Amino acid sequence: NTFEKMDLFEPVKKALAEQNYTTPTPIQAQAIPPGIAGQDILGCAQTGTGKTAAFAIPILDFLGHEKPRAAAKRPTTLVLAPTRELAIQIDESFRCYGKHMKVRTALVYGGVGQGNQVQALRRGVDVLIATPGRLIDLMDQGELDLSDVQIFVLDEADRMLDMGFLPALKKIIANLPSQRQSLFFSATLAPKIRELSNQLLFNPVSINV
Ligand code: AMP
Repeated sequence: NTFEKMDLFEPVKKALAEQNYTTPTPIQAQAIPPGIAGQDILGCAQTGTGKTAAFAIPILDFLGHEKPRAAAKRPTTLVLAPTRELAIQIDESFRCYGKHMKVRTALVYGGVGQGNQVQALRRGVDVLIATPGRLIDLMDQGELDLSDVQIFVLDEADRMLDMGFLPALKKIIANLPSQRQSLFFSATLAPKIRELSNQLLFNPVSINV
C-alpha cells in the first residue's frame, strides 16, 4: 500500500513524494479512502500517528476537484483545533501537502490582534483553521460566514472538552450547513466524546489506531 497507488489528486501525490512520504500510516490507510468518498469519520488516534495528513489529504483531494473558486470568499473547509500551536501545525501541513495547488488557508486564534486575521478572511479562504473562541468572536462581528462549509474537522475533541469548549463547539456547529462531511478525531472516546460525535456524525466509519 503506497500513496503512489492511491487514487489521489496528482499535485498532492507530488507534494507527498517530495516529503518522502511513501507509505500511509495506519490511520491514513484507513481514513483516506472513506474520506475521499465523502464519508464521515470517527478517528481515535493520538498525536504522532499521522492524523493531520489523514484529514488534510482527503480535503486537498476534494479542493483539487472543486471548480476554481479564486473569487469566492467563504471557506469550504473548517478545521477546529483546541490550541494555537496545533492550529499552526495544521496550517503548515496544509501548505506543505498543498504546495502544488492553489489553496488559500487562513489561521484564526486568540491571544493576538485580530486585524491580520480579518484581512485574510476578507481576501478569501478555502481552508479555515481556527480555535473556537476567536472563531466565535469573528462570527459575532459578522466577519465570518460558515454557510459554504462542506467539510468540517474537529481535531483533538477530547482536549477541546477538557478546555471547556463544549458551548463554543455547539454554537459553531449550529452555524454549519447540515449537509456536510464531518471528520472527528480524539485520543480517547469517553462517554462525553461519544455523545458529541453522535450529534455530529452521520453513519461514520470508525477508526481506532
Ligand atoms: P501527526 O500525528 O499528524 O502530528 O504527524 C506526525 C508526524 O509524522 C509528522 O511530523 C508528519 O510529518 C509525519 N508523517 C505523517 N504521515 C507520514 C507518512 N505517511 N510517512 C512519513 N511521515 C509521516
